[in-house]
Amino acid sequence: MAWARGYLRSLDDREVCGQFEWGEVLGQMEDGPPVHGLGIEAIEGLIGEADEVFIDRLVHWNSPRFFAYFPCSNSVPAILGELISSVVNVNGMLWSTSPACTELEVRVMDWCADLFGLDDGFRFDRSEKVGGRGGGCIQGTASEALVAAMVAARRRCTKRGADRSKVTVYTSDQAHSSVIKAAMVCGLADDAEDRSRVRVLESDHALRMDPAELERAVREDIEAGLVPMMVVATVGTTSTGAVDPLGDIADVIDRLGDDRPWCHVDAAWAGAASVCPEFRTMLDGAERADSLCINPHKWLLTNFDCDLFWVRDRDALTESMSITPAYLRDPASDAGVVDYRDWHVALGRRLRALKLWMVIRCFGVDGLRAHIRSHVELAEVFERWVIQEPRVEVVGDRMLGLVCFVVNGESDLTKRLVEEVNRRGRVMITHSMVPIGDERESRSIARVSVGTPGVRREDIETLIEEIGRGLDRIGGAI
Ligand code: PLP
Repeated sequence: MAWARGYLRSLDDREVCGQFEWGEVLGQMEDGPPVHGLGIEAIEGLIGEADEVFIDRLVHWNSPRFFAYFPCSNSVPAILGELISSVVNVNGMLWSTSPACTELEVRVMDWCADLFGLDDGFRFDRSEKVGGRGGGCIQGTASEALVAAMVAARRRCTKRGADRSKVTVYTSDQAHSSVIKAAMVCGLADDAEDRSRVRVLESDHALRMDPAELERAVREDIEAGLVPMMVVATVGTTSTGAVDPLGDIADVIDRLGDDRPWCHVDAAWAGAASVCPEFRTMLDGAERADSLCINPHKWLLTNFDCDLFWVRDRDALTESMSITPAYLRDPASDAGVVDYRDWHVALGRRLRALKLWMVIRCFGVDGLRAHIRSHVELAEVFERWVIQEPRVEVVGDRMLGLVCFVVNGESDLTKRLVEEVNRRGRVMITHSMVPIGDERESRSIARVSVGTPGVRREDIETLIEEIGRGLDRIGGAI
């Protein structure tokens, strides 16, 4: 614990990202494992060695000056929850192999449905009252949630009599790469370029899925004898935070009648902000989706890994993954308890809900709202600076804690700025490419994502200072 406290306190003084060469760590380790262990009494020394060789060569994702990618946030209650989980080290594959592991997760999933303002159809405790069989579980990541959603979607489709070799998936060109990866895992794409069964739809001018384009693609495929199986919409795309119009997408799906494809909503990052009622409109239409995921490990003070995954029809999910050899037969299972082994790829599962329970109990709904609001306010401070700085231009609208911008002038300046800023290591930001303007020219953008737990106003000032210095060095055109 002393080490953990020391590390967290040191974050302020550390560079966020150092400059490392491949092989630096490898070069400090023996080629093979030691035959004779040092013994438990050497643990202090080993922690010191780990500090020097490994910890100093990490990117410090929980530094208050980490503005890259999307955040990966933790907190003391989450760390303690994780610690307890590793101490008890249970395997909650079946309800009976650790009843509290499953029941805690069931309740926390329902709590979180409340927390994010989701409808009753996703809840264990209320979905039957609205004629469904909903519920949720914690997946490791949003990518794993997508695989789970995809096999459930396929199960529903083939149960209706569809030929599994004809099923197709739809998403936008701004969706996360995990959609294509899930299609590859599920055998719907041979490689990342294979578009025979995956339609990557051109997004609209605001980089959202275009429902008209979706309808056109779906109808064309039906005409060609294919079977639309799934639509993956995003609330908060990775590059710019764009929000696909869930209601309009649901209208397209509804027009397909009984053969409607499954709709999965990927709200991995932005979804966390729906703890605040004022940000919930982005999820309007999610009450018509079949599944949805939000990652508290990104922006809700719960350390990696923790993705919340809800389905409206849990039988489609469990039927797609349930297999019961003799050694897993269990009277409680036969009586219909929730056995989470059927909800994801792995059989075994750890006590993962405890850290989230600790976070929710410690901070409460109010504390989590304050956390999100403070980050959105800090992002506004940065956005105001971008707007008044003549050498850069904001791209689209700020989305919650995410601000995107380009450097005016030649197209490679933005990427050079990001490299220049990160090279100094005081702050870290990232870059992406998106189609911009009527010509849809693919351009580099710089992304600043505010979301690490300890970020303060002074860190935004450091960020502004570093970007200003970077602009000076690359000679951005005014
Ligand atoms: N979906 C979106 C919108 C993301 O931004 C990301 C990652 O940043 C993912 C999915 C993948 O997340 P994970 O690492 O949980 O698989």
